[in-house]
Amino acid sequence: MEAQRLTTCPYCGVGCGIAAQPGEARALTLKGDAAHPANLGRLCSKGTALASTVSLQGRLLHPMISEARTSWAAATRLVADTFAQTIAEHGPDSVAFYVSGQLLTEDYYAANKLMKGFIGSGNIDTNSRLCMASAVAAHKQAFGADLVPGCYEDLDLADLVVFSGHNAAWTHPVLFRRLEQARGRGQSWIVIDPRRTDTAEGADLFLPIAPQTDVRLWNGLLAFLDAHGHVDRAFVDAHVAGFGETLAALGADDQSLSAIAADCGLPEKAVADFYRAFAATPRTVTLFSMGSNQSAQGVAKALAVINAHLATGKIGKPGAAPFSITGQPNAMGGRETGGMATTLAAHMDFSPEERDRVARFWNAPRISKRPGLKAVEMFEKVRSGQVKALWVMATNPAVSLPDAGKVREALAACPFVVVSDCMTRTDTSAFAHVRLPALAWGEKDGTVTNSERRISRQRALFPAPGEARADWRIVADVAQAMGFSDAFAWRSQADVFREYAELTGFENAGRRYLDLGALAGLSDAEYEAMTPVQWPVKPDGGTDRLFTDGRFQTSDGRARMIPVAAKGPASAVSPDFPFALNTGRVRDHWHTMTRTGLAAELCRHTPEPMLEVHPADGAAAGLTDGELALVETPAGRAVVTAKFTDRQRRGGLFLPMHWTDAFAPSGKANPLIEAKVDPTSGQPEFKHTPARVAPY
Ligand code: SF4
Repeated sequence: MEAQRLTTCPYCGVGCGIAAQPGEARALTLKGDAAHPANLGRLCSKGTALASTVSLQGRLLHPMISEARTSWAAATRLVADTFAQTIAEHGPDSVAFYVSGQLLTEDYYAANKLMKGFIGSGNIDTNSRLCMASAVAAHKQAFGADLVPGCYEDLDLADLVVFSGHNAAWTHPVLFRRLEQARGRGQSWIVIDPRRTDTAEGADLFLPIAPQTDVRLWNGLLAFLDAHGHVDRAFVDAHVAGFGETLAALGADDQSLSAIAADCGLPEKAVADFYRAFAATPRTVTLFSMGSNQSAQGVAKALAVINAHLATGKIGKPGAAPFSITGQPNAMGGRETGGMATTLAAHMDFSPEERDRVARFWNAPRISKRPGLKAVEMFEKVRSGQVKALWVMATNPAVSLPDAGKVREALAACPFVVVSDCMTRTDTSAFAHVRLPALAWGEKDGTVTNSERRISRQRALFPAPGEARADWRIVADVAQAMGFSDAFAWRSQADVFREYAELTGFENAGRRYLDLGALAGLSDAEYEAMTPVQWPVKPDGGTDRLFTDGRFQTSDGRARMIPVAAKGPASAVSPDFPFALNTGRVRDHWHTMTRTGLAAELCRHTPEPMLEVHPADGAAAGLTDGELALVETPAGRAVVTAKFTDRQRRGGLFLPMHWTDAFAPSGKANPLIEAKVDPTSGQPEFKHTPARVAPY
C-alpha cells in the first residue's frame, strides 16, 4: 500500500481536496480532505465515485498517426513540421489551439506561451469560453481585471444568498452543503431560475423568471434601491465611477414593480420581496453561474448583478459579494495564464506596454498583436478554411460546442487536426490526423485554481500508463521541435509553475492583483508539498477577499458601473418554433461523460437524456410522458424520451447536454443549439433556442 496523497477533484470549480490512497493495479480508496478549505472533508457523488473511473478502459496509450501506432518522435515531428509549414505558407493566424478547463495550469501556460509568444497568434481559446467568459468580460469592465471578489467563507457569513441562474444543488454540491449549514443558522435564499430546480425547492423565495429577462429584473432592483434610499452614497462617492450614467440609462424602461413583474413573468409581490430583501441585507452574496453566463446577454447579466452590489457597497466585505462560480476544475487557471483568446498572459492584455512586458519576460520573437479567435468563431474559421491546422487538447468540441453538426463539418474539412486526449475514441478524435496520449486525473501532476482563486495541487497517484505524457510536456516537445528550444526547456511541472509565478509578479509592484511572485522561488520539494493558497499570494500567505480597501484594478482605482439594456434572446420563439429550449447538466454526470460514464453508480441517477416539458405543454403537443419525442430547432433535431414535470415553466423545454455518440447518438443536445453568442464575451446562448416538439 502506497502512502496517502493529497490531490484535488477533477470535476467542478468547487475544487474539493481529496485524500487518496492508491493501491495495487490502480486500485484507489479516497475520501474528502478534511484540511482542504474548499470542502473540509466533504465530497459529492461524482468525487466519491472517482475510484470507479481510473481504470485503463478506453485509454489512448500510444501516439497514433491516423490508425497506425507511431513513436513520440515521429508524431512530434509531424505536428511541429505541419504547424511550421502552415504558418510559413499562410501566416500565424492560420493555426489554432482549442484547449480545456480540464488542463492543469502548467499545461495552459505552456500552450499559451507557444501560441501567443512564439507562433505569434492569439488563436488559443478554451472550452471555458462556454462556461464563464461572460463573467470574465464583466469583471474586466467593472473591476479592471478578471477578479473574483469573494471567497467561500463569504457563503458562511452571508445573511442572504441570491442564486441567479445557478442550480448549486446539482452543479456545485459541496458548496450547496456548506450553504445548507449556513441556512440552518438563519441564512435566507432567493432563487432566480426559469426551472424549479432542487436549489429552488429549498429557497425562501423562488422567482421562476421568464427566460432571458434577468437584466430587466436586476436593472429594476437598481432603480428600486435608488428610489427607496438604499444606495450607499459614501461607498459610491469614494470607490465607484459611472453611477449617474447607469442610473440615467434605467429611465429608458418603466421601472415600476408592476411593469418589471409583467416583463419577467413574475408575481409583483415576489419581485417586491426580492428587492426589499436585497436592500435590507448588508451581508448579501449573489451567486451566478451558467444560467446567467450562457446567454447572448451574458455580460449584461453579470454587469447588472455587479451594479446592484456596487451601488450598495456589498463587495469587499465579509459575507457580501457578486460571486461567479466556475464550472470546470481549472477554468480559473486558464483565465489566469492566458488560455483565453482575449487575454495575453497572466491577466495582461494586448496594450503595447503589456505586450512589451510579456515579450521581454518570455524573450518571445513574435508576441501576438491582438486577441485571437473565440471558440465559436474559431470553428467557423476552421470550417471556412481560414484555420488550416488545429490542435484540440483535452476537450470534445464535436459534442460540446453549439451547432455541433457544423463543428463536425469543420473538423472533417480541416487539413490537419491534432487531438491530445486520454481517451482513444471521442467524437472529436474521430477527425484527428494525429492523436497524442495525455495523462488523466490520477496521473497528472500540477496545479488548479478553484472559484475562490484558491490554487491547489493535483498530484499523481499512479505511474503514467503506456506512453502517455503530461500535456505541458507534449506542448514543450512540439515547441522545441519547431525550433524554440530554450524557452521550453522545462524539466518538470515545477519548472513551469515557477516561471508562471514569476511572470505574474514581473514588473507588477501591486498593479495587478494576480500576483504569485512569492511562489516563484519554490524549491521542487516546496512545490511538491504546496498547500492550498488564494492569490494574490503575499510573502506571508494568500488573500481571501479582494477590494477590502475599496481599490479596484482600474486606472483610477475606482470600480465602474456600466449601463446595460434589457434585450430579448438572440433568437425569439415563433409560431414555427414556439418553445424556448434550455440545456444544462444533470446531477451525476460531467461534460461529455468520458469519465462519469465509466461509473455505474453515476449512471443510475439519470440513465438517459430526457426532454423535460410542462405537462400541459406536453399534452397540447400530443406527447406522452415516458414516450419518445422529436425535438427540432433551426439547427438540428434529436429524439429523446419526454418527461412531464411541472418544475418546467410553460413554454420551456430542458434537455441535458452530456450524451454523445457513444451513449445516445440520437439524443445529443448541442446539435440543436444555434451558434448565437454574446457579442462581447463570445459565450454561446445555450439557454434559449427556439424549438418545437412532436411525438416520434
Ligand atoms: Fe468534485 Fe465538485 Fe463534487 Fe467537489 S463538488 S467533489 S469538486 S464534483
